[in-house]
Amino acid sequence: MTFTYIFGPVTSSRLGRSLGLDLLGRRVCSMDCLYCEVGRTDELTMRRAPYVPAEVILAELEQWRAENEILPDHVTLGGAGEPCLNSEMGAIIDGCRRILPEVPVAVLTNTTLLSDTSVCAELAGADIVLPSLDSLVEEEFIKLNRPCGGLSASDIAESLLQFRAMFKGRIFLEILLAQGINDSEENLALLKDYVKRLSPDRVDVTTLSRPGAYPVAKAVPPDVRAHWCSELSAACAVTPETPGTVFLRTGQRADLVERDQKAVTEIIVRSLQRRPQTPDQLALALSLSLEKVESALAVLVHQGVIHAVDADAAGLPGANGPFYSCR
Ligand code: SF4
Repeated sequence: MTFTYIFGPVTSSRLGRSLGLDLLGRRVCSMDCLYCEVGRTDELTMRRAPYVPAEVILAELEQWRAENEILPDHVTLGGAGEPCLNSEMGAIIDGCRRILPEVPVAVLTNTTLLSDTSVCAELAGADIVLPSLDSLVEEEFIKLNRPCGGLSASDIAESLLQFRAMFKGRIFLEILLAQGINDSEENLALLKDYVKRLSPDRVDVTTLSRPGAYPVAKAVPPDVRAHWCSELSAACAVTPETPGTVFLRTGQRADLVERDQKAVTEIIVRSLQRRPQTPDQLALALSLSLEKVESALAVLVHQGVIHAVDADAAGLPGANGPFYSCR
């Protein structure tokens, strides 16, 4: 069966083999981040609604469970926008627990809705919450994250502290750095202090690894990211067993899985419809050999289904490009 709101499992360095659920079905978000990998936000809103009803997603999940014997490491609520905007998120989390009782539930969030107590109560049912908070410098926050009017970085940060105090699960904080926008020493100093107060289970310092929604967003150089990792590691109460700061998207290539070429081609097209990617990124995300990915890409380019974008033109000169994108 073809699924509309379930994708993967994909290999994520933060969550292992992760089965993704799309709670929005389209680009609905409370922010319009410069770096967004799924494109520019179509509907900028703080309004919660059943964008994809719980019963629709859970019916797909039941079907997925019936067709698959190997369970993922996590089921991850996300989508082409902010999953907390789905007003049936609580029911979806409960349904994941019923259908996949052995699999921990993770939720990606941009943190903007944590001032809503009903959102916090629903999120409390998850095992892991992965909030993002890129800058505590208000001007940087506005420039990079382009939020709904009225949102401030300081209010969002405060609501995350309050959620932390009541949440029994784990928190993996993500900070994405964009060159010349939020990689300032002022932001680093504020986030170091904040991370000490929040005491997350992990901090992931990331940068762009794919073209963002707006060309102005560029990746920071490796030495800048290393500097931030080092400074934030020092600020976190870390133990050697649970390192506080890790890099995202630099993990080992997953075990290779043999699939027939038709299925490989379909899965690659579906993945490229979500975001542009390099052959390496596709191979990692889809657990395919690089050779298989490159051979399928060559056919798809020849057929005119996809096209290549030069990594330099995409503002990611260090990438092992080119990037491929659906026409
Ligand atoms: S990166 Fe996340 S928070 Fe930002 S616009 Fe995209 S979906 Fe929304």
